[in-house]
Amino acid sequence: MVEVALAGTGPLSLLTMSMSTPDRVTGMDGYSYRRVALTPEERRYLVARVHYWRHQGFSQNVIIRRMAEEGQRLSTGAVHKYLGYPCDACSSGHAE
Ligand SMILES: [Zn+2]
Repeated sequence: MVEVALAGTGPLSLLTMSMSTPDRVTGMDGYSYRRVALTPEERRYLVARVHYWRHQGFSQNVIIRRMAEEGQRLSTGAVHKYLGYPCDACSSGHAE
C-alpha cells in the first residue's frame, strides 16, 4: 500500500520537502499527487482531521476542499481510505 498525500503549508510539508526522488501518482480525480510514506502519527493526524469534517456532516468533496485550505491536499482515494479508519470519536462511540 502506498499512502498518497501532497502537503502544502501544513505539518507534512517538511516530509515532502525531504524527499529526494519525488514520485508522482495520479489520483482517481485525475490530479497528480506525490507519493508520501506517512508515519503512524501523520496518518492518525490526517484520519482525525478528515473525520472531524465528516462528523460535521460534510461530504467527501467538501472535506477535500477543507483539507486543502489547511494545506493538506488529499486525493479522493486517500480521503476515502482515511474515512475507513476509526478516529477517536468513532472508537469512543460518540460519532454518528
Ligand atoms: Zn470518526
